[in-house]
Amino acid sequence: MKDEVLEIYEKTGAIKKGHFLLSSGLHSDIYFQSALVLQYPNYAEFLCKKLANFFKDYKVSVVVGPALGAILVAYETARFLNARAVFTEREVGIMKLRRGFAIEKGENVLIVEDVITTGLSTKEVIEVVRSYDGNIVGIGCLVDRSENLSFDYPLYSLLKINVKTYNPYNCELCKQNIPIEKPGSR
Ligand SMILES: [Zn+2]
Repeated sequence: MKDEVLEIYEKTGAIKKGHFLLSSGLHSDIYFQSALVLQYPNYAEFLCKKLANFFKDYKVSVVVGPALGAILVAYETARFLNARAVFTEREVGIMKLRRGFAIEKGENVLIVEDVITTGLSTKEVIEVVRSYDGNIVGIGCLVDRSENLSFDYPLYSLLKINVKTYNPYNCELCKQNIPIEKPGSR
């Protein structure tokens, strides 16, 4: 199954090689641009159905992920779980639910991500859900490229891959004067 997911990322050109500034602030020679996969509804359906299948017995009532990357993942996964899909976004740097979105107290919540690197945005979403007293049943992501990350909830990824990341102060690629790209927005 992992090979199938990797194959989809490869054939849509979603695995970029170079020198990248990740949203976490870390540098890496590999970047997963999930938007290039998710532009194909068939692939989005295929992948999110797998996520949904894993959590199908968790009685998920709402799926939530951080904008922009996880909006489609949340929506498509929610479709298979017959749940709502909402997303968090930053307002003056603070992650929150906007647009009138809300989570009911005790409601079963599945958190989703496209790619997990440091887990920072996932942790911010966890805090948002906790602030509503939502009941987090698990975390699902398409690609987990984190190192030794653990949450208080079950984490399920379609593709677990170990990719080197560098602290910006000690980056092998910076030392070679390779120009850095911030790929998220372009
Ligand atoms: Zn660097």
